[in-house]
Amino acid sequence: MTNSKRTCLAADVGGTNIKVGLVDEDGRVLARQGFPTASGRGPDMVMADIIRHLKGLAAEAPKGRRPMGLAIGVPGWINQADGVLLKAPNMPGWVNVPVVEIMSRAFDLPVLLENDSNLYALGEWHGGAGRGLKHLLVITLGTGVGGGLIIEGKLWYGAFASAGEIGHQLVELRGAPCGCGGRGCLETIASATGMTRLGREWLKKKKETLYRGEPDRLTPEMMFDLARRGDPMSLAVFRRAGEALGMVLVGVFNLLGLEGVIIGGGVAGAFEFIRPRLLEIMNRGLVVADPARLKLVRGELGEDAPLAGAPALLRALAG
Ligand SMILES: [Zn+2]
Repeated sequence: MTNSKRTCLAADVGGTNIKVGLVDEDGRVLARQGFPTASGRGPDMVMADIIRHLKGLAAEAPKGRRPMGLAIGVPGWINQADGVLLKAPNMPGWVNVPVVEIMSRAFDLPVLLENDSNLYALGEWHGGAGRGLKHLLVITLGTGVGGGLIIEGKLWYGAFASAGEIGHQLVELRGAPCGCGGRGCLETIASATGMTRLGREWLKKKKETLYRGEPDRLTPEMMFDLARRGDPMSLAVFRRAGEALGMVLVGVFNLLGLEGVIIGGGVAGAFEFIRPRLLEIMNRGLVVADPARLKLVRGELGEDAPLAGAPALLRALAG
């Protein structure tokens, strides 16, 4: 590969934590650091923190592997051409932050801004479970449900750069309220928040479960463990998540003719329990010649995925 000696810098800004990394061209993370976002401090202080950590990483770059660019993923709506974070729902006060301008003052490098789900999708596509596919959707099951859509080997942005927002597909007309202001979105069922909510509802009804703690203390991680021991509550919650996700994916596959879906994010550990019902629903609804050829797998890169997406973004957008 040409330029095989080059590296790039990456930052994944989350509502709670920030990860920065030094990444090689194939998406391998050579060095990484993480620290709390504490977004209440305001963009100026947080950005200064990111710059300080990135400079530390840049200094660690092996000789002759100077970073060729910097890619930053942010959890919100962006104007990519201007490099501005327009709004981040989980970071109050972060409005119209000129991320690229701030970073460009600190680094003599091309700087690119991307939505965090898209950067995650690029990572799994470029260096993870989506390698070699041309049409795929990468879904992140975390606090919310995010998505990045790759069509014809390119990120698909749509007319308003809002494509891929799969978490707000409607799955229950009179469902639970969602963070977006709507009701019954996929996110209210298949995210960490949604799964915990469903678990607590189960507990409220005093239905059978192996869980003995307080309803308020229930987490998706506890439900993974309980599901392994055959807990009816956890299995029912994951089955419901698989059903909702299946309904959405049937529509997406039938409409777009994708080759695969990669499931990542913090709650992807539940995938083994979500999968059976998901497959059942998909087999029922898919209108494709050969469903066996569709790839439906868990992501491979975990938390490194957005960092691994940096070289792909720089290559795609910087030419
Ligand atoms: Zn929603």
